[in-house]
Amino acid sequence: MAAEIKAPAYRQFSIAPAIQPGSMADTKTFVANEKIQEAIGFPPALVDDWHDRAIAKMGELLSKYRSFKVYMDACVHCGACSDKCHYFIGTADPKNMPVARQDLMRSVYRRYFTIPGKLFPKLVGARDLTREVLDEWYNYFHQCSECRRCSVFCPYGIDTAEITMAAREILNSIGYGQKYSNEIIGKVHKIGNNLGLPGPALTDTLEGLEEDVKEATGIDVRFPIDVKGAEVLLITPSADFFAEPHIDSLIGYAKVFHAAGISWTLSSKASEAGNFGMFIGNYQQLREIAMRVREAALDLGVKRVVVGECGHAWRVAYSFWNTLTGVGSGAADPYAMQLQKQLDHRYKQPMHICEVTWDLIERKVIRLDKEANDKHIITYHDSCNVARGSGMGDVFGGQFDIPRNIIRAAANNYVEMAEGTTREQTFCCGGGGGLLTDDLLDLRVKGALPRMEALHNVTETHGVNFMATICAICKAQFTKVLPYYGFDRRTVGGVHQLVSNAIRLGDK
Ligand code: SF4
Ligand code: SF4
Repeated sequence: MAAEIKAPAYRQFSIAPAIQPGSMADTKTFVANEKIQEAIGFPPALVDDWHDRAIAKMGELLSKYRSFKVYMDACVHCGACSDKCHYFIGTADPKNMPVARQDLMRSVYRRYFTIPGKLFPKLVGARDLTREVLDEWYNYFHQCSECRRCSVFCPYGIDTAEITMAAREILNSIGYGQKYSNEIIGKVHKIGNNLGLPGPALTDTLEGLEEDVKEATGIDVRFPIDVKGAEVLLITPSADFFAEPHIDSLIGYAKVFHAAGISWTLSSKASEAGNFGMFIGNYQQLREIAMRVREAALDLGVKRVVVGECGHAWRVAYSFWNTLTGVGSGAADPYAMQLQKQLDHRYKQPMHICEVTWDLIERKVIRLDKEANDKHIITYHDSCNVARGSGMGDVFGGQFDIPRNIIRAAANNYVEMAEGTTREQTFCCGGGGGLLTDDLLDLRVKGALPRMEALHNVTETHGVNFMATICAICKAQFTKVLPYYGFDRRTVGGVHQLVSNAIRLGDK
């Protein structure tokens, strides 16, 4: 029988934990089977010549990504990052210190790609890539959510997330992939979204939502799909179509478009904002998944592309869609150029739904009744990929301020969590980066500790009973782990859930 999963006790002071070497050494996420691997073009199982192919792949990545090589060379082992990872804080396993995670890769880099490592391996901490080391890579590079918090504290800006992505890319190239992420990528290629929801099921769900909103408000708020000639194409995480509390934010987006009189549509072809290609560090997968958005935008002839509440999706959209797809300028292939001509450049392309909503609030196009959220005392959880991987609006720090501005416009009671746990120093929810799988639940519960501590503090001091966020993964992760820390699972919800409660849809 599996051991009972327990949340670590809240700490009196937020100090580094006493280390427990090897405590997470056996935590191994399920390995992808042959069918899953082959479906996305990876070797079906660990190849016989895995050692040579892994080293060759590492060499390829070192020559392709300058940052990866710099990260391998630049660390001075100052230790500034060592206690900054939520997984180290929650598990106390020293290999979950960011510097130690990096060293799993760096030791192999030194052995094969540096002269001292080739000549005097022991003196410079260089190691052969053995099967034992490979398994250690698999286990510990799947205990990093690629949240980038450690990089904020590194004097050299070394980004462990990129090292984790490189490790996963190498592992996939030799047939040692993760079941959870690779299965999801396969579903997106085949069906169009992470959940494998086919078009008809999507249409049914949206019709049901129209009926629910009509019943609740008396107003016909539409949830359109595949409407040619709509102004806005909304790309949102598929969890928004049926998961709780995600669906309440989808209702909020629909109400915003309705109240502002903006024609919009969803797409059955691009029914997923998430892009797990980034989590596994694979450019080809990242591109292929993003390309569905371009195809949908071209097919539907939309003028704007807007992204719903999803952290890593927004990072991919904000940072990569321009050169990958032509949503934004940068790509020069004919379809990208065609799309750039089609889109309306009076608007940013793409836009986050929070940018759309905040602009409408500021211009008084939509109005909110704050009292509708008076039962909530609200705090805000910055999601990693929004906080440390993107921006919003035209001002520095817009990704922090715009969601908070919307909450303050939609509600009377707002409280910040402690400094050092928010904005660019925010703690990961514990389930990002391809780790939102039940076979890693123990890690996820432990990794949530610092965020749960910060939430617990504002609950005790200010009576906070609602934590808003704009990430589908954070919502799913918190819904699962909140009860382990004594909270109601409904404590978490979306920013547009609050907007949905407060927005005026017409004269009463
Ligand atoms: S990127 Fe995040 S999860 Fe990974 S080592 Fe750094 S702090 Fe930990
Ligand atoms: S903070 Fe940067 S330089 Fe210091 S140990 Fe961590 S990764 Fe190395």
